[in-house]
Amino acid sequence: MLNTAFHDSRAIRVAGISNDSIVDGPGLRMTIFMQGCDKDCAGCHNPEARTLTGGSDFTEVALFEKIRSNPLLTGVTFSGGEPLLQAKALIPLAERIAEAKLSLAIYTGDAAEDIFARSDAEVLKLLSLADIIVDGPFILAKRSLALPFRGSANQRILDAKRSLELGRPVISADPAWVGGDCVG
Ligand code: SF4
Repeated sequence: MLNTAFHDSRAIRVAGISNDSIVDGPGLRMTIFMQGCDKDCAGCHNPEARTLTGGSDFTEVALFEKIRSNPLLTGVTFSGGEPLLQAKALIPLAERIAEAKLSLAIYTGDAAEDIFARSDAEVLKLLSLADIIVDGPFILAKRSLALPFRGSANQRILDAKRSLELGRPVISADPAWVGGDCVG
């Protein structure tokens, strides 16, 4: 369920930023951990990002300047927390990232089927600007350290454009993300 207090906000509420991550997708990425999550995953990897009242507000301009200040970046990852709670505020930043030809990955604790069933226009717009969606909650019983860029085996690396086009989850075939393995 989306939190409307966040959903309607213009500022982007951020829990933390990793300026040069190599664990949230291929290449050198800036990972922005969004503040606030409506899930309650046992073994949550980022519990301080869950509260809706923590974090710091950033403008889209400030975050994009931060991204552009590192010419070595190949991509940006929105993680959390739950980025989809801030879909409206994140759309302008995602548009700038797409215009800059940087790859964008969005992690969400929601399963893609639930996202499509909900059919929230702003969430779908945000996801349409991404290249990759990593979906599903972290499930401790399915935790694996062997999985590239995911914490638990239920989480899928999806081709965002194809998934949006077909209205169903489509597993990415990008070897940089899936290493040639079938992850579905
Ligand atoms: S979706 Fe992510 S941030 Fe939210 S509770 Fe689960 S692991 Fe933690």
